[in-house]
Amino acid sequence: MKELRACRKCGRITRDLKCPECGGETTLEWDGYIYIIKPELSLLAKKIGKSKEGEYAIKTR
Ligand SMILES: [Zn+2]
Repeated sequence: MKELRACRKCGRITRDLKCPECGGETTLEWDGYIYIIKPELSLLAKKIGKSKEGEYAIKTR
């Protein structure tokens, strides 16, 4: 888990230096793992503004 990075822009979890979703810069400094399966049905997804399925960080620094 420690090797995982999160996008500073959209919070997407990835192992790459660049976000596969939006091309933004990723960081190792993040908190709060969330997996969104059905964003259209998820209140949590709406709350944190995610519209795509996948793994996200709630907070990045
Ligand atoms: Zn991103």
